[in-house]
Amino acid sequence: SANSSAEEWVEKDRQYVWHGLVPYKASQNPMVISKGDGPWLTDEAGNRYLDAMSGLWCVNLGYSEKRLADAAYAQMTEMPYYPLSQTHKPAIRLAEKLNSWLKGPHEREPAPAQEGQRARKHEHEHEHEHEHEHEQAFKHPSDYRIFYSNSGSEANEVALKIARQYHQQNGEPSRYKVIARYRGYHGSTSGALAATGQFMRKVKYEPLAPGFLHVPPPDCYHCPFGQKEGQCGMECAEYYEQIINWEIPETVAAVILEPVISGGGILTPPEGYLKRVREICDKYGVLLIVDEVINGFGRSGQNFGHHNFGVQPDIVTMAKGLTSGYLPLSATAVRADLFDVFRDDSEYGHFRHVTTFGGNPVACAVGLETLTIMEERNLVARSAELGKRLQERLAVLKDHPNVGNIRHFGFLAGIELVTDKESRIPAPAEMLGQVIGECKRNGLIISKNGESVRGFNNVLTLCPPLVVTDDELEFIADTVVKAVQNIG
Ligand code: PLP
Repeated sequence: SANSSAEEWVEKDRQYVWHGLVPYKASQNPMVISKGDGPWLTDEAGNRYLDAMSGLWCVNLGYSEKRLADAAYAQMTEMPYYPLSQTHKPAIRLAEKLNSWLKGPHEREPAPAQEGQRARKHEHEHEHEHEHEHEQAFKHPSDYRIFYSNSGSEANEVALKIARQYHQQNGEPSRYKVIARYRGYHGSTSGALAATGQFMRKVKYEPLAPGFLHVPPPDCYHCPFGQKEGQCGMECAEYYEQIINWEIPETVAAVILEPVISGGGILTPPEGYLKRVREICDKYGVLLIVDEVINGFGRSGQNFGHHNFGVQPDIVTMAKGLTSGYLPLSATAVRADLFDVFRDDSEYGHFRHVTTFGGNPVACAVGLETLTIMEERNLVARSAELGKRLQERLAVLKDHPNVGNIRHFGFLAGIELVTDKESRIPAPAEMLGQVIGECKRNGLIISKNGESVRGFNNVLTLCPPLVVTDDELEFIADTVVKAVQNIG
């Protein structure tokens, strides 16, 4: 029977597979996920679940998008691999597409004259590959160079290395420090983990890379500066100016942040926060790296999370939704004018980052198809609409004694559970486990995150595929609302 087959697989898994995402005990009884169908998963025992976490915040198109399989097959049979020491069409096409996605809402409908200019620029690049002057003459401030790699962590490693090398070659070699935030997550490799501000993930591996500093997050519900929401001086943003001065501006290379901290508990910043951080970075010559690994590709209701806040980053990192999770691929988009300092043929002048698989043509083809499907189906606008509906539906939980705060960013939601509304003390793990368990028994996968002080994961999180139907949205909302109302 299905059940005995599931048990056999789990038994084998226990023998051979090492799971890093969950503690040991939890890893011993995994679901054996066998089949995907839109936002639904079926496990080996025959149970069906709507996955309101999109796997690990990435399967935006759901689990059965055949066009992605077709794109992969076509590219794999045509030309499966070549490193980007040379080039190939999927990498070029996707880089062009990412540039169009990176345009802010105000830039999306370019004036006809501009369009012509841009087209000419591409011709010039093609015809005179070695004549940089042509390209410079047609430079547009919001064009980005795309560097491909394989994961969100690596995209951030690349961003951090580029930031440091940029300053070195731009006449400011003393700039190396990176300012990140507590509760932010940027990845599992040494630089990205050093930038991460969740100490339970770091404690066994320290000391990590030096030169990383952390500032308190914009966590209005537990304001680290003791202020009341909506009545503050945005101390969390102003703090960047203080720390840059304390550290001496000439030593600071970059700030790295997610528009909205996701894995750290869906922390939506106060109005104007990102703009203020951008201003401070500009004032002190510090590069702004925006981590769009979760926020990007429509999740926020805009193409990218930062488009909600009217800022232009210097460097944008992306992964996850780029291929809807179907293949590993990430990208680091670097403002074209920063790339100028890498036009340097001296011995150490170019960006030296070898990545065997980065920009794999099959992954790029799948990325391109993912974005094409999103455009055809208008899924960015759909994400905004679904997010709004979810927000309306979850609002009934506001008065529940264990619901401290509900936060939304596009089609991303966090419900912070507390022991009581007065103390705002994080709810115990058992309470979150009860809600998640009840959802699962009713066929819905949600998760808990947060990584607040001392590791309480007291925020229920939802990050459903962008392809859910109206009925599926109702199912998600109903199931979560009932499970929270049943706490006790
Ligand atoms: N940045 C953010 C904001 C993330 O949430 C993650 C992963 O969850 C990463 C970076 C790292 O991505 P990856 O797991 O692909 O290395």
